[in-house]
Amino acid sequence: MLYLYNTLTRQKEKFLPIKKGVVKIYSCGPTVYDYAHIGNFRAYVFEDILRRYLKYKGYQVFQVMNITDVDDKTITGAKKQGVGLKDWTQEYIDAFFKDLEKLNIERVEVYPRATEHISEMVKLIKTLLKKGFAYKKDGSIYFRISQFKNYGRLVRLPTKQAGMPLSNSELQEDADEYDRENPADFVLWKKTKQGEPFWETDIGNGRPGWHIECSAMSMKYLGESFDIHSGGEDNIFPHHENEIAQSEAATGKKFVRYWLHCKFLLVDNEKMAKSKGNFFTLRDLLDKGYNPLAIRFLLLSTHYRHSLNFTQNGIKQAEETLRKLSDFCLNLNKTNLHFRGGAKISFKNRIKSAKKEFEQAMDDDLNISAALASLFNLIKDTNKAITNKEIASDDLNNIQELIIKINQVLGILKFDALEEISEEEKKLIKQREDARRKKNFELADKIRAKLKRKGIILEDEKNGGSWKKIPLTFYKN
Ligand code: AMP
Ligand code: ZN
Repeated sequence: MLYLYNTLTRQKEKFLPIKKGVVKIYSCGPTVYDYAHIGNFRAYVFEDILRRYLKYKGYQVFQVMNITDVDDKTITGAKKQGVGLKDWTQEYIDAFFKDLEKLNIERVEVYPRATEHISEMVKLIKTLLKKGFAYKKDGSIYFRISQFKNYGRLVRLPTKQAGMPLSNSELQEDADEYDRENPADFVLWKKTKQGEPFWETDIGNGRPGWHIECSAMSMKYLGESFDIHSGGEDNIFPHHENEIAQSEAATGKKFVRYWLHCKFLLVDNEKMAKSKGNFFTLRDLLDKGYNPLAIRFLLLSTHYRHSLNFTQNGIKQAEETLRKLSDFCLNLNKTNLHFRGGAKISFKNRIKSAKKEFEQAMDDDLNISAALASLFNLIKDTNKAITNKEIASDDLNNIQELIIKINQVLGILKFDALEEISEEEKKLIKQREDARRKKNFELADKIRAKLKRKGIILEDEKNGGSWKKIPLTFYKN
């Protein structure tokens, strides 16, 4: 049973999706005015591990990640360069997808762009106006937080009583605009400003605030209530607090069941952020010659609820660990291909316990340290067993299969194309089939051994012709 830490309740809770077997997730995505830094990628790698582990457990995952392609920063950036907003953001959207691929982050099901969902946002704002949760002031529209009694439940602010202004108004978006009923009220719709892009709509000419974007797009693709909403810890307040207020005020239903947040990636114990100038983009690091999968490994190898201090030395260590893991797999193949006979003692139970340990660790709020320990301990024991010849050929296959399975979650090794076989190899498989049919078992065995040396394992004797290719080399970028 999977347990996840829910920021809303500050507890690890049993994970039970609304609909059996299906998990709906919304993850806050990039604002595309620059290249994402690896602090951002810590959040995206964490969300990728979550997604992959849910799939490993047999869930069907439907995940949405927004792309914020209109806000103050994107508008300022485009203006400075004298290009249109769309052209400006497209460059960073393309870069974002390239970076995801390098880090072996799976694509989620939908990447909605804010500028393509203005009508959904307008509709939601109209509902809020009608229900008295929003008001117009000088052409902009604000959310009236005194009206929403649960405001502050996620962040647990001491000043959450209705009508009380939040003391820390600088945390609020647009702290420079004070023409609202209560300084803590946040903006839903911003009136047109000279020289800025705007949309002509029923609620006036303007553009959406950031928070309304995520409420409108998540509910469009995932429904009014869904399972998981995730982001970095900076999203808890005000962004996610405001999303809850907007969504629940409009629908009267619980918006999200589980709120998951990862801790920051730090540099010298400070948050890695563009505004602090202490950031690395993925490109910066790849230009220095680092392996992107080692960067992925570094980002995932600390539990997502612990802060991670970034150093280049950390990447070097991650590279070393990955190299060892890759060498082990290669060695496993070599041993397997030249394996004669086999031991009497079975290693089966050891492999089973490693799998169980991995799953138990991941079930415990994605406890990655314990999960990795289960893998590395298995490797240690396997090496010992190979040296002592206390392992059977079957065991080697099973270990390999387990590593491939675990790697579906971790995504740190890339195997060479598994299913590719050459024409010559296909011919050999066919010749062996013929030999077997003609009961020429000597020839059949010879061809079988030849195929095995090429890394092709013939699997199912009964149904004939079934084979699998084991990876002989590993992707090293
Ligand atoms: P942004 O583009 O700033 O809206 O951020 C996109 C995602 O990256 C959000 O989920 C943020 O919470 C997350 N994020 C930003 N900086 C960091 C950091 N230093 N460590 C971890 N996550 C971060
Ligand atoms: Zn968001």
